[in-house]
Order: sequence, then C-alpha cells, then structure tokens
Amino acid sequence: MGGAVQRSGLDEMAGKGGATGYLTVDLSAIARNYLRLSAMAAPARAAAVVKADAYGLGADRIAKKLYACGCRHFFVAQFDEALRLRPLLANDAMVFVLNGLQPGNEMACAREGIVPVINSLEQWRQWAAAARSLDRQLPAVLQFDTGMSRLGVPPQERAELAELVNVERGIKVLFVMSHLASADDPESVQNADQFIEMERVAAALPQFPVCFANSGGIFLDKAYHGALVRPGIALYGGLPIAGLADPLEAVVRLDVAVVQTRTVPAGTRVGYSGTHVAAGETRLATIAAGYADGLPRSLSGRGAVFCDGIRLPIVGRVSMDSITVDISALPEGRLRFGSLVEVLGPHQTLEHVARDAGTIPYEILTGLGRRYERRYR
Ligand SMILES: *Cc1c(COP(=O)(O)O)cnc(C)c1O
Repeated sequence: MGGAVQRSGLDEMAGKGGATGYLTVDLSAIARNYLRLSAMAAPARAAAVVKADAYGLGADRIAKKLYACGCRHFFVAQFDEALRLRPLLANDAMVFVLNGLQPGNEMACAREGIVPVINSLEQWRQWAAAARSLDRQLPAVLQFDTGMSRLGVPPQERAELAELVNVERGIKVLFVMSHLASADDPESVQNADQFIEMERVAAALPQFPVCFANSGGIFLDKAYHGALVRPGIALYGGLPIAGLADPLEAVVRLDVAVVQTRTVPAGTRVGYSGTHVAAGETRLATIAAGYADGLPRSLSGRGAVFCDGIRLPIVGRVSMDSITVDISALPEGRLRFGSLVEVLGPHQTLEHVARDAGTIPYEILTGLGRRYERRYR
C-alpha cells in the first residue's frame, strides 16, 4: 500500500467508552483513491461499489463522501442496502442493485427510484410489466454472463433479450454490464475470453454504454473500461492485482487493546488445545479481538500484531474474543491493560493479514466485526 495511515490521534490507551478496539476509516484517503481511479479510467466514469456496508467500513459515510467527490453511480448487492442508501443521496445519484430484481419488489423499487440490475429474461419481463402498470419509463442496467456463470443473462438467451429490448419502450437501459472473474490476474486468458463475449453483447445492443471493469479491470488494458467502471476494493485501499506498483492509499487502521499480560516459564501451554508451548520464559499479552471480531482462526500461530514497529507473533489458537501474542521483544512494562497494539496500519496491511490467514483482503475487510468503535477522519 502507498501512504500509511498516520496515528489517528487515539489515546495510547483504550478509550473511556469501554471499546477495546478502534477501527479508523480515513474518508479523505477513500476520496483520493476514488479520484485516482477516476483519472485512470477517464474518459470512462467511475462508480463506487458500496455493497456489504462499503466492505464493512460504513456505506452511509462513504457514499456521501464519494458523492461530494463527484461520484453519481453507487452499486450495492441487495435491495435492502439500496433502500437504506437511496434517501441519503441526492436525486442525481443512481443506486443499482447487483443481485437483481427480486420478485415482488418491482413497485418498491420503482417508488424508491432504485435501479435494478436485470439478470434474466424473467426479471426483464417483470420490470417491463411494472413500467406498463405505472405508465412510465423505468431505468435498468442489463447484466450479461460472459463467463463467470454467476449472475446475468446467459449467452443462449442474449438474442431473445436483445429483441425484447429493441421493442420495449417502458424501460430505459442505462448500461449493459458484465463482471470479470479473473481481473486480479492480468495473465489469465479468462480476461480476454470475457472481453470477446462482452464485445458480442455490445454488438447486439450497440446503443447502450458498457459497464465492465471492477477494481482489477481498471488496471487491465483501457479497452476494459467501457463507459463506467465499478471499483470496490481499490477504493478501500486494497490492491486488486498483487505485485503492481500501488497507486492507492491505505484507508483503515485497526488498533486493539491489551486486556492482560503475563510472564510464563518454559514449557507452558498457551490457548485452546495447548497447541503452543513456550520454548523459554516468555512474556505474553492477551489482545481483545478474536474470530468474532474478524481475525480468522486460521491466524492461529501464524499472524502477528505490531507495537512500536515491532512484530508480536500470535501464539496458540485464535479465540472468539481474543488472541495471545508474544511480547518478549518489547521492553518490559511497555504494554499493560488498555495499551493499544496495531492490527492493521503502517506496519501491517490488509494484504499481510489476508496472506497470513490464507484468504483475500476482501474477506478480512468485510469481516471486521461490529465490536470495534468506528472512527472517521
Ligand atoms: C463486488 C463487485 C464489484 C467490485 O469488485 P472489486 O473487485 O471489489 O473492485 C464490481 N462489480 C460487481 C458485479 C461486483 O459484484
């Protein structure tokens, strides 16, 4: 990651409010990431993907900030997320539901001014029926499956949909879209395969602008950008393609409190099932975040936290509410009840934690629990 999030003006000690963890979200860094991605994609415009509460960081605050930066296209996954977000944004902003038009939601969707991503012929027909019964035009994005087999109109139904689109007056199609399955790997042939499929879609419906690239797609060839790009992870500081020069800024910082320290003699077992046995006399600290707070159990005996830039390895199993770390490398007395250690920050990025946990930054970010006090800068 690029610029480090500076120490956030947190007290050295856990706050008086009782929180034992602080998740600091740098809204200005998100704004700068948005502007940087917009510049990379220009002349295409950049949307913002704020599904799953903006990858766990707070969709309300983040969407408003991005609106102020000029973003007008917001993607969520679910209708409920759109319902919550829609009233927070001015009318010239559009809120799109990636998971499609749920049967029975047509009228609510139309009433609230939410734009469904139409994923099937059936959804198209339902939306067209809603437009007829309301006697007005309704907006939509049309999603096509170009090789991921997840969402969108399948190739064998493309021609039929194109025919319907060309005669339907009740629906205003804003974009034709698809989603890349392997944009995190620029070498993958799947990118080119999907690109060719997307060109076929665009040829069948040439009157509509294309929306294709997620964060990874923005870093692929310009040809992938279409008219509107849809970054998610990159807004939040996650580098979509490993090993690239990173133009993005870190956005999150996570500091968690120590809740107990102790010194144990050689041979002492640590944590559930006693998987760790102290090799020599060891100073330990118990930190108030565990798998219920989004530190996966796969970090047992693998991950670390930091204090004063010094790596403090996790020893033994990750518990539900805590982890235990070896603090022998720190001066005695440096950490005590209430002291904060860095879980995410200048010394440990999302990518580091994800790698240690055997997962991807997306999963770490969206899993950061509800028990941290969230602070916005
Ligand atoms: C989640 C999602 C995105 C954003 O993906 P990132 O890799 O986070 O940029 C874009 N488009 C669709 C359809 C998605 O589901």
